[in-house]
This record gives sequence, structure tokens and C-alpha cells, in this order.
Amino acid sequence: MIEIRTSKRIEIVDITDDVRRIVEGSDVEEGIAVVYTRHTTTAIIINENEHGLKEDVISILEKLIPSHAGYMHDRVDDNADSHLRAIFLGNSVVIPITNGKLDLGTWQRILFIELDGPRTRKVIVKVVPC
Ligand code: ZN
Repeated sequence: MIEIRTSKRIEIVDITDDVRRIVEGSDVEEGIAVVYTRHTTTAIIINENEHGLKEDVISILEKLIPSHAGYMHDRVDDNADSHLRAIFLGNSVVIPITNGKLDLGTWQRILFIELDGPRTRKVIVKVVPC
């Protein structure tokens, strides 16, 4: 398990090195790593960790799913935008393990996305031989 402390309402955190440590600390040579967030207002994606691209992701989320746009859930919790953004991004990724290592492309990183921070979050990593 990986614990993540976020400091902003929306924040993109690169967790690739944490996942890599777990995979390389296991004895699995061929298999998959499942990286799963246990929260309803966070997401996990694989993409490039480039500052401008991360700003673009945040900006497009705000355009596609604006805050306080008359959502029903805002009546009880005032964070409908966070849930809706999480639903569209997804809450897990699967990465192949080859020769004991995460089989990521050159620019691919595992990115945790906080959508209703700041909070302390937990991400589960399951290393599965296959
Ligand atoms: Zn809510």
C-alpha cells in the first residue's frame, strides 16, 4: 500500500517509484501490477509527468466538468465535480511486469490524481504472477 498526503484540491502525484519499489521487492518475474485507489474522489492514470501537460489536465477537467454546475450531489456534499472527474478518469491501472520490472514506455509514469484535497489517501498495489 502507498500512502499519499496531498496539499491542494487538485493535484497530480507521480507514484511510479513507489509502485516500482513494491514490484521489485516481490519475487514476481512475469505478471501484472494492479494499482488501485480506494477513494471516490481520486483517480489513477498512466501518462507523461511533464509540468505543462499536468497543468493542461487540470485545466481540461475544469472545462469539461466545471465546479458547482447545478449537480444534485452538491446538495449533500458540495464535491460533485470531484466525483464526476474521478468517474471519467478511472480508479485503477494495470501494468505488465516483464523480467521482474514494470514494463512502462519511456515517457509513461503512473500518476495519482487528487480531485478533492488536501487529504491523506491510500493506493493499493497488487503484484500478480501470470
Ligand atoms: Zn461527495
